[in-house]
Amino acid sequence: MNKLFGFTFMSVLALTACTATTEVEQAEQPWVVDRFDDIKVIRYEVPGFNELPLEEKIYIYYLAEAAKCGRDILFDQNFKYNLAVRRTLEQIYVASEVREGEEFAAFEKYLKKVWFANGIHHHYSNDKFAPEFSEAWFREQLAAFINDENRQIEDDFLCQIIFNKDLFASRLNQTAGVDVITESCGNYYEGVNQAEVEAFYAKMIAADEGNPEPISYGLNSKLMRNEKGEIFENVWKVGGMYSSAIERIVYWLEKAAEVGTPVQRETLEALIKYYKSGDLKDFDTYNVLWVKDTESNVDVVNGFIEDYGDPLGRKASWESVVNFRDEEACHRTEIMAENAQWFEDNAPINPAYRKAEVKGVSAKVITVAMLGGDCYPATAIGINLPNADWIRKEHGSKSVTIDNITYAYDKAAQGNGFMEEFVLREEDRERMKKYGKYSDDLHTDLHECLGHGSGQLAPGTKGNELRTYSSTLEEARADLFALYYLGDPKLIEIGLIETLDVAWAQYSKYIMNGMQTQLSRIEPGKNVEESHMRNRKLIAEWCYKKGMEENVIEIVKQDGKSYVVVNNFERLRELFGELLCEVQRIKSEGDYEACKALVEDYAVKVDPEFHAEVIARNKALNIEPYGGFVNPEYELVQDAEGNIVDVKILYPANYIEQHLDYSTNYSFLPTLN
Ligand code: ZN
Repeated sequence: MNKLFGFTFMSVLALTACTATTEVEQAEQPWVVDRFDDIKVIRYEVPGFNELPLEEKIYIYYLAEAAKCGRDILFDQNFKYNLAVRRTLEQIYVASEVREGEEFAAFEKYLKKVWFANGIHHHYSNDKFAPEFSEAWFREQLAAFINDENRQIEDDFLCQIIFNKDLFASRLNQTAGVDVITESCGNYYEGVNQAEVEAFYAKMIAADEGNPEPISYGLNSKLMRNEKGEIFENVWKVGGMYSSAIERIVYWLEKAAEVGTPVQRETLEALIKYYKSGDLKDFDTYNVLWVKDTESNVDVVNGFIEDYGDPLGRKASWESVVNFRDEEACHRTEIMAENAQWFEDNAPINPAYRKAEVKGVSAKVITVAMLGGDCYPATAIGINLPNADWIRKEHGSKSVTIDNITYAYDKAAQGNGFMEEFVLREEDRERMKKYGKYSDDLHTDLHECLGHGSGQLAPGTKGNELRTYSSTLEEARADLFALYYLGDPKLIEIGLIETLDVAWAQYSKYIMNGMQTQLSRIEPGKNVEESHMRNRKLIAEWCYKKGMEENVIEIVKQDGKSYVVVNNFERLRELFGELLCEVQRIKSEGDYEACKALVEDYAVKVDPEFHAEVIARNKALNIEPYGGFVNPEYELVQDAEGNIVDVKILYPANYIEQHLDYSTNYSFLPTLN
């Protein structure tokens, strides 16, 4: 018990200290720096940066430069003509002298959305944006500001791209039964259909059969046809596709390697080698080194990492996160890591699918110093890498919770009226107010640190059987693991919580979000597509249905409004355990049919009336459902001899200026790649 109070007291102290400093700054600079459409842009602070030793500051500076150099890659990956659109819009925006009127305002909003989504498709729904300015007005701007010198793409085709709503309608279409490759206009494939892609990779995988260290085939290339019509991989590497941006990334990584510790240098050199060779074996070598480095204070994710943007979950988008340890908060995840084996041994799943020996669970809480690529402006709040199953099994994984980002989110959301509108019972509201942020943090820690790393496949299962449903199922598995253990008295015993009210706060919020409030992000008439959203809906709806007779979760109607209420937390926890057991079985056995049924039955379809109500209530509150960030800036301070004597951190609060700066100074790719 001593440990418990000691720990809780410390975190309260830490929080108070933080709040005190930020309140002073808040008076000068608000947390929300821009709002448009369904987006709010928030700034984040980097507490502790100024106290870092000089060599770590310089190391961060170089890595931060590298993080900014891959922005164009992501634009191009998201859609072949994104860079053409962005550059044309920016040229008009900068040159335009008359900066007022409805058409210009709508144009500016569209450009802000394109920056936010790294392209013309919504970052979450993947649907193409509908411009609110007229084609006639836009053509006038083209005539005025675009000429043969600066034209990126033919005017008529550009207008088709922007204004024809049926053309390139979705970046990522995973509707059951459609050809997910030809119906998605992401730029990972060209001139090939789903059957051809599947056959291409099935052949590669078959040739690698029995390799205990299977290659993540397809991860770093575009699959397309050559002049002879043969299908080939156009690899993203120095000398390959995206070379001019990758060369810049490598340039800054080399600078960083020079000032890093021996371990950091070795790891970065492996990454550089991979960027130069494009060989996925080199990527695995790098990942093994990366995952083993748990000691360094400063760490970085940089590369082609997550495959959410590929309908077949094979091609990875470029991203970077530069970060350093938040020592105080790390105490929390260290306790989890120390108990990792206990959690695994007691998981409510078939013992055959538990890991006999949990290896190298390393978890930490980090402070982000720079976001890039697919982590900017919208970012995850937790990361668990690497993704290759065999590396996770043999060498473990690194898992992080990003504290300064969740802190900024929390600050930006305070007092927005959301809880008063959607949470029916006073007691639930109180619990959420008291424990909400902490229970979110714990949930993220458990999800990233233990959830993704838990479990094992049955002999013979390869891990790619679940195809388009695999990310949803994997997120559900990690969330269920987190939810189940959040309500375990073991957490009190090891000093992570002092009361299960922390768990109940999360349970109420999670179920309400999964069944109801997250739907405000979906347009009327649309299905749920994004895998994290699908996962939350799956879990909430499944528990609602299974617990219906016992009234575990209830939809209460009051004054014409619906409220999702959890009546029985203990029973809900058991239901989480039951579903975890089934979800783990599906993953371990690669049971595609069961997976498909689970996702299609619970995670996809939305009741139109219920949906309309959420949208209306959310709209009345004026809350943007999505948030993203502006980055800080770093400046080298040099003495008369040119020695670097310090790195200064600045907090710009202008979303437009930051993007124009990135497009001017960190844009290295040709318009068409
Ligand atoms: Zn996850």
